[in-house]
Amino acid sequence: MVIVRTVEALQKAKKELNGSIGFVPTMGALHQGHLSLIQQARRENDTVIVSVFVNPTQFLEGEDLDAYPRREEADTKICEVAGVDILFMPTIEQMYEKDELCIGAPAIRGYILEGEKRPGHFDGMLQVVMKLLNLSSADRAYFGKKDAQQLALITQMVRNYFMDVEIIPCEIVRDENGLALSSRNAYLSAEEKERALCLSRALKRASKMVMAGEFDVDVIKAQMLEVLQEADRVEYVAIVDRSFKALKKVEIGNTIILVAAWVGKPRLIDNIWI
Ligand code: AMP
Repeated sequence: MVIVRTVEALQKAKKELNGSIGFVPTMGALHQGHLSLIQQARRENDTVIVSVFVNPTQFLEGEDLDAYPRREEADTKICEVAGVDILFMPTIEQMYEKDELCIGAPAIRGYILEGEKRPGHFDGMLQVVMKLLNLSSADRAYFGKKDAQQLALITQMVRNYFMDVEIIPCEIVRDENGLALSSRNAYLSAEEKERALCLSRALKRASKMVMAGEFDVDVIKAQMLEVLQEADRVEYVAIVDRSFKALKKVEIGNTIILVAAWVGKPRLIDNIWI
C-alpha cells in the first residue's frame, strides 16, 4: 500500500495503474462500516483507493470539527490489512485554495432534513466529493446508505454534471445490538450507547408496522416518537420516497424512513430502506 499526502503524489501513483479503480472516501476513524465499503471495492476492482480527510467545509460553525476523532495510525493499519492499494491522506492546504469556485446542493432536496438542520453541510460535502472523485479517477465509488441523503445528492451530482463514475450504495453496518456504526459513537458513554439504541429500535418498530400492513405515515411516526423518548432530543423523523419526497403512505420498495436525534454529545442518524 502506498500512502500519499499530496495531489501530485496521487496523480503520480495513478499513472502506474491498470484496470478498474474503486474508491472509498472517508473522514477516518475507520470502523466496520467503512471496512465493508472497502471490502466491496476490493472485490469489484483491480485497484482500491481510500481517502481519509476530515473535510472542514462540511462542518458548520460550532460543530465538532476540532473534536472529530482522528486515528491516522489505526486507519493506516486497517487499510493495509484490507488490501487497499493507495491511501490518500491530504492536508487541508492540498485540497483547497482561497476563494474557490463552488458547487451547491439543490435548492429543495439539499435543504430538507439534514440540509435543513445543517444548512451548508451538503454544499461542503458535495464540494469535497466532487474534488475527490475527480482526483481518484474512480470507475466506481462506494457510499454507505447510512448517510442516505448524502448518497442521493452525490448520485444527483454525478448525473447532473455527467461525471463518469458509478456510485455504489452499500448496506448499513450495525453492532450486535443494532446501533448503526459511526465514528461519532466514540463520543457515547456506556449509558448513552444503551439509550442510542432507541434510534434503531424506532426504525425496527416502523418496519414491523409496515410488515403488519400499517402504511399510514403519521401513525408510524407517532409510534416511532414514543420509542425515541429515550433520546435527549429528536431532530426529525421522516418517511420519504427514494428521491426524498415526503410520503403520506409507505410505498414498498420506494421508501426510506429516517431519524436524527441527540444522545449525549453526538447527534446520531439512522435509517431503513423499505
Ligand atoms: P464518514 O467517514 O462518516 O464520512 O463515512 C464514510 C463513508 O462510510 C460514507 O459513505 C458513509 O455513509 C459510510 N458509512 C459510515 N458508517 C457506515 C455504516 N455504519 N454502515 C455503512 N456505511 C457507513
